[in-house]
Amino acid sequence: MPVYNVMEEVVHNVLQQYENDLRLTCHCERCKDDIMAIALNEIKPRYIVNDKLNPVIRVEHVADRQSATNILSTVVKAARIVSASPRCENAKKE
Ligand SMILES: [Zn+2]
Repeated sequence: MPVYNVMEEVVHNVLQQYENDLRLTCHCERCKDDIMAIALNEIKPRYIVNDKLNPVIRVEHVADRQSATNILSTVVKAARIVSASPRCENAKKE
């Protein structure tokens, strides 16, 4: 289906950009996926059809500081939840 939630990309970018500031107890892909899933459930999705619109919507989000702050605080919240109880293999070993 040529429709996808552009917020996936936005949250992914935020996670990459702030990974070192989130004080994650684990940096594996599984934990980052969990953070993304939790954050994306909180954030209103924006489905788009045309890939060429991506940069426009991203710029719009960067310009809209309120929504950028909301996205960041949602990612921070999700990171705290996952860091408190990681579900990956690394966590089981300890
Ligand atoms: Zn992990």
